[in-house]
Amino acid sequence: MLDWKREPHRRFNPLTREWVLVSPHRTARPWQGQVEKTSVAQQPQYDPECYLCPGNARAGGVRNPAYTSTFVFDNDFAALKPDTPLGRFEQDGLLLAEGEPGVCRVVCFSPRHDLTVANMEPADLRRVVDVWTEQYAELGARTLINHVQIFENRGAMMGASNPHPHCQIWSSYAIPNEVAKETAAQDAWRQGHGSCLLCDYVRLEQTAGERTVDQNDHFLALVPFWAVWPFEVMVLPKRHMTGMDGLTDVERDALADILKRTTSRYDRLFQVSFPYSMGFHQRPTDGAPHDEWHLHAHFHPPLLRSATVRKFLVGYELLATPQRDITAEVAAERLRAV
Ligand SMILES: [Zn+2]
Ligand SMILES: [Zn+2]
Ligand SMILES: [Zn+2]
Repeated sequence: MLDWKREPHRRFNPLTREWVLVSPHRTARPWQGQVEKTSVAQQPQYDPECYLCPGNARAGGVRNPAYTSTFVFDNDFAALKPDTPLGRFEQDGLLLAEGEPGVCRVVCFSPRHDLTVANMEPADLRRVVDVWTEQYAELGARTLINHVQIFENRGAMMGASNPHPHCQIWSSYAIPNEVAKETAAQDAWRQGHGSCLLCDYVRLEQTAGERTVDQNDHFLALVPFWAVWPFEVMVLPKRHMTGMDGLTDVERDALADILKRTTSRYDRLFQVSFPYSMGFHQRPTDGAPHDEWHLHAHFHPPLLRSATVRKFLVGYELLATPQRDITAEVAAERLRAV
């Protein structure tokens, strides 16, 4: 039997059907790389220079309303546009391009410039969950929108251009790469096992416990067995549902609660406002029932050993296979402890 807590090994991600290299024996090696500057500057509640704050002008000249809760608008510099034609270009089977219509939106979580998911009030976070659900339904109902991606980049380290609490929603005609992989894997699991891959995984992790970070009555937060990022977390509903439109009233509150719990643990881990990329994966909105799909969120935080040491995917990881030193079990233990 493999001693996978001590020996170098690779772990399989059943959602993407890709492998990650785990090197637990390397955690003691000295660090001589980049040290990021810790940003400790307290943000003001209102920033006159912020293009997301209420009443301020955005680039392009539109002025935000004096909003008091959440605020949704079409991205001024959208990567996708709704009126793009569905053309196709092909040459010798080597050059292939397809027109990609879509809609990109920005959701401000709060009028307060200085808040984060970790320190927002539960009732205000619940309002954000409601907006996500509304946007998923509204955009997903459009005939040219087959996928709705909700994601948040938090912190300059993750390329977030503005600290104002907000997320983006990119909805598109095509099913994006990661979602296509997860759709294929969940569908194959359902065909082969007659059950839902992530329902089965939730049950396994509830029994194992060693990768659980936090939970409430309806959601489980865990470091997945196959995590790539040091403190990567998945948040899953304990009950099967294909998308956010399956959430009941109490489950919406529970989702807000588990997101606040998870991000608060992140902030406590290195005593810093923790950077991350977070996003929801759910049923494509192409009209098929997709009962193989199980709603979940991924958190991909870059920090490795402290507030200033970050992980990069370079070299072997970029060219061959992602690699990690600290095991998923140790990462979960550390997040449980704070
Ligand atoms: Zn702001
Ligand atoms: Zn399920
Ligand atoms: Zn996923």
